[in-house]
Amino acid sequence: MFELINSYIDSLALFLAILFIQGMSFRKIRQYRPNWFQNGNRRLFLSILLGVYYGLAGIYFIYEGAYENNPVIYTNMRILILMVTSVFGGRVPLIFAYLVMLFGRISFDITSPITSRYIILMTLIFAACLLITFWKKQRFSRFVALIILNFPALLYYFVNNFDQGRILRGFEILEYFLLFFVTALLVFYACNYIDKSNLVIQNLTETAMTDSLTNLPNMRFFTQQFAWIFAKAQKRKKALSLFIIDIDHFKEINDFHGHQAGNTVLAQFSSILKNRTFPPRTMFARIGGEEFAVLLQNVDTAQAALIADFFREEIERAKFPYNPVSGKVTVSIGVASASSNFATTESLFEAADQALYQAKQNGRNQIAVHQGELE
Ligand code: GH3
Ligand code: MG
Ligand code: MG
Repeated sequence: MFELINSYIDSLALFLAILFIQGMSFRKIRQYRPNWFQNGNRRLFLSILLGVYYGLAGIYFIYEGAYENNPVIYTNMRILILMVTSVFGGRVPLIFAYLVMLFGRISFDITSPITSRYIILMTLIFAACLLITFWKKQRFSRFVALIILNFPALLYYFVNNFDQGRILRGFEILEYFLLFFVTALLVFYACNYIDKSNLVIQNLTETAMTDSLTNLPNMRFFTQQFAWIFAKAQKRKKALSLFIIDIDHFKEINDFHGHQAGNTVLAQFSSILKNRTFPPRTMFARIGGEEFAVLLQNVDTAQAALIADFFREEIERAKFPYNPVSGKVTVSIGVASASSNFATTESLFEAADQALYQAKQNGRNQIAVHQGELE
């Protein structure tokens, strides 16, 4: 009895650790969204990686079950691996997990007659798991269906002479079925918990970094990214330009047509900003009421001034139905570039802000470039 509990706790703890590590690494990938993750083929690569990861975990359970430990418990864990990859991962991870485990089992001891029975068992379970990926139902329903579908395969395993003297009888069969059932539910809840909490954290992080009116990144996000990009540009001695955009006479829109009209203009302005093509790795954010920042990497002052002026023109040409006076909106833009004069993010920001003030002073609907020293 003690041996049974020992194997059970060991294998379950390991299983949970395997799930946790996978959940943790996927959260990191989702959080940082590396470029390769966005691409379709790379997603396939990730799915294969997931399958191989669970396949290797399966091989470990095969190995553990074959020596000294309770083979039934460890076989249950292998079955659960396929069930989890099917329900939580999908078809591609499932196929790869199965292939890896199959390969592991075969290379493990090819001559033994037990191997062929194991292959039959694994294939029966794989077939059930594959079938369930076509069933468009809630995860829990799919998982429970899999538990039921796998009962015949389990029975086949329990009453066959797999590992010397491991034929189960009568009450023992019931005991192991029950254990499998309980473990399966536990594993399902663990997977679901990890998956859900990852999703919640992802949503919270995104919400904390996004402005709700315009869906643009907010000041908090901007400050974080600015510090990071600024340090990188300095280290690599790359050009970095910043512009601050401020909508002209925005207060009038609010005063004439109300706050809601002002909001609509802000949302429309933001969608123009979002849909516009900027040089690669350009970052923008709403940094205040009607103020926006655009940070351009590897772009020098002259290029930044050109880009800023193009954008100003584009806004001037765009139709804003909610502007009461003319249906038009104009912006003033202050441009500054990182140089030895601006040793910190604050001084670069201050320089762009001073340039913006200059553009406003000069009559609005124009850009101004900050030259040289801070005043
Ligand atoms: P200037 O050309 O000098 O920039 O004039 P302005 O009227 O645009 O500048 P000012 O800074 O005086 O006014 C900004 C206004 O933006 C004041 C504030 O009520 C309004 N505002 C700030 N945030 C929001 C918002 O989220 N929605 C709306 N509708 N108005 C906002
Ligand atoms: Mg303003
Ligand atoms: Mg303004």
